[in-house]
This record gives sequence, structure tokens and C-alpha cells, in this order.
Amino acid sequence: MKKIFLLLIIAFSLPFTDEIKAEETPDLRIRIFSTVNISSVTVNSSFGTYFLDGSLKIKKQDKITLAVSEGKVSVSVNDSLMFKRDSVKISSQDIKCFLQITPANAKARRYDNNLTVKLTKDKKFLLLINEVTEDNYLAGVVQSEAGGASDNVEFFKVQAVCCRSYMNRFINKHVKDGGYNLCDDVNCQVYLSRANKTQCIEGAAQTAGEVIVDENGKIIETLFHSNSGGQTVNSEDVWGNKIPYLRSVKDSFSVNQPNYKWEKEIKEKDWLNYFRNNGVDVKDYNNKRELLNFSQAEGRKSKIFGIPLTQIRRDFKLKSTFFSTEPWGSNVKLKGYGYGHGVGMSQEGAVNMCENGYEYWEVIEFYYQGVKIKNLLKETTSKE
Ligand SMILES: [Zn+2]
Repeated sequence: MKKIFLLLIIAFSLPFTDEIKAEETPDLRIRIFSTVNISSVTVNSSFGTYFLDGSLKIKKQDKITLAVSEGKVSVSVNDSLMFKRDSVKISSQDIKCFLQITPANAKARRYDNNLTVKLTKDKKFLLLINEVTEDNYLAGVVQSEAGGASDNVEFFKVQAVCCRSYMNRFINKHVKDGGYNLCDDVNCQVYLSRANKTQCIEGAAQTAGEVIVDENGKIIETLFHSNSGGQTVNSEDVWGNKIPYLRSVKDSFSVNQPNYKWEKEIKEKDWLNYFRNNGVDVKDYNNKRELLNFSQAEGRKSKIFGIPLTQIRRDFKLKSTFFSTEPWGSNVKLKGYGYGHGVGMSQEGAVNMCENGYEYWEVIEFYYQGVKIKNLLKETTSKE
């Protein structure tokens, strides 16, 4: 009994006793090219030394081709067939190495660290898994999701902490789908390449281990959008469930940023018909006047005549739910603010805050109410 107890203590304390190793081992498994059906792929070393199958050294000019072949993965080096396996690993000598991966039917991308290639469950296509360190993965995600939004390191620290929070919250999302943690598409986090933008790499490195937790210490869901239009939205006005940290806040930082304003004209007839079809008596003078002069100047509303603005946004393909209306000849003109669902962090507002000297944790605490930043490597709360 004592022995088992001791073993348990060792097992649970291992990841924390050697922090640097835990951080730098490429032990995160991300499915890449997850939206592409790949039958054949070519892999080259872009930087550093790689090994095929743990032993065969790959030279920089070597071309490794992996393909689906009779229910296995076939491996050729410089066009001569080496072997067929269920799973093939291309591993790097150290964590600075990166590969170029070129599927026959998609554009080449570069990824850090290791690559494992297996078959999809139906054995029709290749399943590409990038084994990568947490820092390398997060820098790649930050650059893929927001690399073009700014050159400000502080902003990429905000992004890195948000992306790390998502990663930790959903770390087992795809384990049942073939032994990987997350995939590279928008339903997880976009991860279209390794990072080569210095600010993205620094943003991830300078916030190593940091995630956002709510008042109960649970990692939050870091929802964001492009621009709030000057006021963010309560979560329940978009998805029906009230989440304490996703409260509506007045957001002057989004004002006059690139996606702050929009306009759209809709035929008055189409606008009124839409509401008639949703049960509103549009022949009634007051109702009609309200529909043509709807205003959110005093703040965001969630409905018109009981019809959710989120539904209207979807049906008319509007940039946001934050709009007012006015008669405009035979049309109705919608004057709108912001871009996106409006819940959580405004990306353009966050960029603006960082460029005006706010620190990353101030941005996070502004858009997510009552949260704290916690460092999982230190297992203590770093910022109150
Ligand atoms: Zn996914």
C-alpha cells in the first residue's frame, strides 16, 4: 500500500519537478491539414537534422514521400521505396528544427519539431500529426489567428494567453479521433504554420504557462470578435446562457478602429415583409415607424418586437447586431457598429489598448470581467 502511494506521488509530481523539460518536449499532438484529404505528401527538412524512424538520418536535400498504399503508409526517400508501416515518425534532433510539408493537393506549410503520419480511420487518407512544444504551437496559432493585426508584442501576449487558455481547456478534444489533442482548423484554433514573426514568438514566450481563470479558478472560454462597435454584448444575448465573465462593457477602445462602422441598405418592402413573416403587424402605424426608426443609440438591445437581433443578423448577413435604422427613399438604411458577435474581447480594441500603453493583463481584465491570470508552471496566481 505504501509503495503504491509513493508511486502515485512520484507520478503526479513528475511534470512539475522538471518544468523546463515539461515545457520543451514536443509532446503536444496537433492534426495539421485537417480539412484536406491527402493521399500523398512530400516532407523536407527546412532547418536542422531529422531522423526517419528514429535512426535514418535525413539530409537537407532529401525528399521523403509518404503515401497511402494498401492500407499502410508507404515511405520513399528520393523516390526509392523504403518500407510500409501503420505509422511513420519523422523526428527532429532538437526543438529548433522545422520541416516543410507539401501535400500533393495543397500548398506547402512549415511546422516546428516532429511529424507522425498515420492513416485516417477509413484508411483512405493520410493523417498528419505535428508533435510540437507548447511554445512553438502557441506562437504558430497566435500568428495564424492574428499575425497581421499588429506589430505590438503586448497585443501578442494578450493573444497568447487567450490561445493557451483555449488549449488547456480543450486539450483532450480530439483524443478519441486518433490520438491527437487538437486540430488546426477554426473549430479548434487556426494553426496554419510555424511562427516566423518575432513579436508572435515573444508574445508566447513571455507569457509561458499563463492562462485566464474565472473567480472559481476554472479556465475561461476566451471568446473574441473583430470589433465591438463601442459596447460588448452579454453572453446570454447571443447564446442564451449567462456567463459571469462575459458581460457587456462600454468599449471606447473599439471606436474609430477599421471595423468600427458599417452601413447597409435593404428594400423597405423586404425589411417589413421579414417582420410580417415573423408575426409583427407591420400595417400598424406605430409598429412600422418603430421598424424604420429602430435605435440603439442609448446602448445595445437584444431584440426588436421579440425577434432576436442575432437572428436578424444571420438572415440579412449583417456585420453585427449593433445597428439603427432610418427610412432612405424606397429603402431602409441600417447604420451599424462593430464586426462579429460582440461577446468577450474586441480584437481591434485590444490592439488599440496595447498601442496606447496598456499591459496585456489590463486588456484581458477589461474585456473579461472578474478574471485573473494564473501561471500553470508556477501554480500560483501571478496577477491580482
Ligand atoms: Zn478540431
